[in-house]
Amino acid sequence: MHEVALVESLLESVHEQLRDAGVVGRVRRLDVVIGPLSGVVPEAFRFAFEVLSPESLGPNCELVIHTTPARCHCHSCGAVSQIVELTYVCPACGSHEVRLEGGRELLLQSIEVDEEQPCDDVPAEPPSQEPNRL
Ligand SMILES: [Zn+2]
Repeated sequence: MHEVALVESLLESVHEQLRDAGVVGRVRRLDVVIGPLSGVVPEAFRFAFEVLSPESLGPNCELVIHTTPARCHCHSCGAVSQIVELTYVCPACGSHEVRLEGGRELLLQSIEVDEEQPCDDVPAEPPSQEPNRL
């Protein structure tokens, strides 16, 4: 299940973006865009997210998955159809002579954060660090 690795890198980039923006707070909601040709299974992605996110982002972070359509160009009938699921069949005529285009993205679209004021920001749990052993 490569979705675990994808979610891990998503969570990493969430932390990176918050750090870059200087935002401190609890992440409430993430919106991601998954194209049908990205090879990512949204259900597996969500499952991996639910397993991994509490430790990384805290509890109750909502994940909203948007799917973008890909285009299916048919060589038999000339139709250009939008597809939201991976298919190699023309929706208009049923031909397999199709070329797919777009829809390969896996994007972090937006991050919603309950911002904390830096002045009364007392971390509940200081990051625990293993002492280095020589
Ligand atoms: Zn067709």
